[in-house]
Amino acid sequence: MDNTTNKKCRKEYYKKYNEENKECRKEYYKKYNEENKDKLNKYKKEYYENNKEYREKNIIRSKEYYEKNKEKIKEKVECDNCKSVVCLGSLSKHKKTKKCMNNGVTYPRGDY
Ligand SMILES: [Zn+2]
Repeated sequence: MDNTTNKKCRKEYYKKYNEENKECRKEYYKKYNEENKDKLNKYKKEYYENNKEYREKNIIRSKEYYEKNKEKIKEKVECDNCKSVVCLGSLSKHKKTKKCMNNGVTYPRGDY
């Protein structure tokens, strides 16, 4: 069996497996969550507490970054792919959108 067939088979298998065990798994997780409610809550709380400082630092850092680079982030640039005008800060995000990918001139449809 070559690799592609193998992959396809495996995918089919998992799909079927997932379909068949969906309800089962749902029940299982539900039960697990019920039974471990306290433990999970405690864990969540602890996690939240432990990461509070880190989270706050992160927020401050991103705010500082934004303040420092405000002008640059808000600067409008033309996307080299679809020629839309977007903010420099969201250019990389924009490039992953359907709009950009479907209008691409750098990577025309069907060319790759
Ligand atoms: Zn674009």
